[in-house]
Amino acid sequence: MQGKEKPISARCPNCNTPVAYKGPDKDVFFPFCSKRCKLLDLGRWLDEEYKIESEGKKMWIDVN
Ligand SMILES: [Zn+2]
Repeated sequence: MQGKEKPISARCPNCNTPVAYKGPDKDVFFPFCSKRCKLLDLGRWLDEEYKIESEGKKMWIDVN
């Protein structure tokens, strides 16, 4: 076979920017394009969990 291995690439789950994987040291945010996108996506998950939790507490208050 000729040439190098194809670089691993993906699209940022947050902003859909194509991201090429360069290695675990350089691309610590992969498959996200940046730290910001990774944090935003993580924040969205945490926010959803928080909402579910508060709704659960609300339900308890309504029952009592
Ligand atoms: Zn992004």
